[in-house]
Amino acid sequence: MNLTMTADQKLLRDEIRAWLAEHAPQGPAPDLATQEGVGRARAWERELFDGGFAAVQWPKRFGGRGADPVATLIFYEEYLRSGAPPRLNRLGLGLAGPTLIDLGTPEQQDRWLSKILSCEHLWCQGFSEPGAGSDLAAIRTRGEVREDGILINGQKIWTSWSEHADWMFALVRTDPESRRHAGLTFLMIDMSDPGVDVRPIRQINHAREFGEVFLTDVLVPHENVIGRIDNGWHVAMSTLVHERGASLYTAAHFSSFLQDLIDAVPADSLEDAHVLAELGWLHEHIEAYRYMTLQTLSQVAIGKKPTAQASMGKLWWSELQVRLYELGLQLMGPAAELRDGEQGDPAPVRWRQRYWLSRAAMIYAGANEVQRNIISERVLGLPKDKRHAL
Ligand SMILES: Cc1cc2nc3c(=O)[nH]c(=O)nc-3n(C[C@H](O)[C@H](O)[C@H](O)COP(=O)(O)OP(=O)(O)OC[C@H]3O[C@@H](n4cnc5c(N)ncnc54)[C@H](O)[C@@H]3O)c2cc1C
Repeated sequence: MNLTMTADQKLLRDEIRAWLAEHAPQGPAPDLATQEGVGRARAWERELFDGGFAAVQWPKRFGGRGADPVATLIFYEEYLRSGAPPRLNRLGLGLAGPTLIDLGTPEQQDRWLSKILSCEHLWCQGFSEPGAGSDLAAIRTRGEVREDGILINGQKIWTSWSEHADWMFALVRTDPESRRHAGLTFLMIDMSDPGVDVRPIRQINHAREFGEVFLTDVLVPHENVIGRIDNGWHVAMSTLVHERGASLYTAAHFSSFLQDLIDAVPADSLEDAHVLAELGWLHEHIEAYRYMTLQTLSQVAIGKKPTAQASMGKLWWSELQVRLYELGLQLMGPAAELRDGEQGDPAPVRWRQRYWLSRAAMIYAGANEVQRNIISERVLGLPKDKRHAL
């Protein structure tokens, strides 16, 4: 992979910058706890789609621009620089879409991909269940295979965006005799089915970003199965590579947030040797993460499934987040403890919210302890921990 900026990539940066300067909404990001906020965020996604910028990294035949990893990183760097709101349909664009591109049939790709791009369909991920989180292979949601479809009964939990999602990609157990990885099926569930009951979970910060999803006699047509029945684990592994280790959006965030911190802290803090050393450490590790992500994506681009490398990426981005956001919280001082609206400067609130989110990053996309197990087994060749599945 050549990481030197080409003339085409420079042109692309100019094109993206100019387009975003004209179109990107400014001001506070939409409040995604409200329907109105979600509606505004969807409208912005639609505008990105109309401009041809919904997913620059997707192949051209699927509505993307066929951008390579470096060009994709350029897009996200410009995106964050522009002050545009956070992307809404991250589970559609980042997980459902790439999985369909990798393993969907042409009919399935035609049916779903363009609606992911335009955000007509907002997606959520139905993997975790009570009793099946780190141990994902313990999934118990039942999928009874019948002639007219697969009848689903069970429960998912921690399902981000389930309250607003139109579709959910899910893993269910279709072979009741099977144990562990065999006998699981990956399929798409229409969230408007009357048998789907979403109960949002209110978090400590009052947001309700995820929920429980109860599935009662939901009949899913055979054409909604991705890959083969009972072979869903293979499909899920492809999804997890995208989730854990291959997000250039995350990579671009780090540099943008580090700059945000440097701009937000009082000038005298920047004379403190400890703070300077910490900022230097962060910059060094952000750069390393960026190259690690480009490397993972270059493996994906040639058809490999670098699961262990993705686990390393997951550890890197989640722990980097904690260190960056902890520093941010410290440097904001007592102002970060005030409630939203009690102060004029929005920066302390922003850093407090980031800090809270960073605690969750050690858990979602697979808990960090489990990623370490994967690395010790698959990279270092140490004995397998028989208690976990991933
Ligand atoms: C903000 C957020 C959003 C999420 N969004 C989604 C979503 O959209 N869709 C979805 O399907 N899931 C989602 N999840 C769920 C997430 O994938 C699970 O929380 C995660 O896999 C851990 O599972 P668990 O919560 O059941 O914890 P457990 O598996 O019960 O783990 C509890 C603790 O035990 C440790 N542990 C477990 N097994 C081992 C082992 N073998 N070795 C060492 N330590 C171990 C874990 O590291 C953890 O610290 C989300 C979670 C969060 C926090």
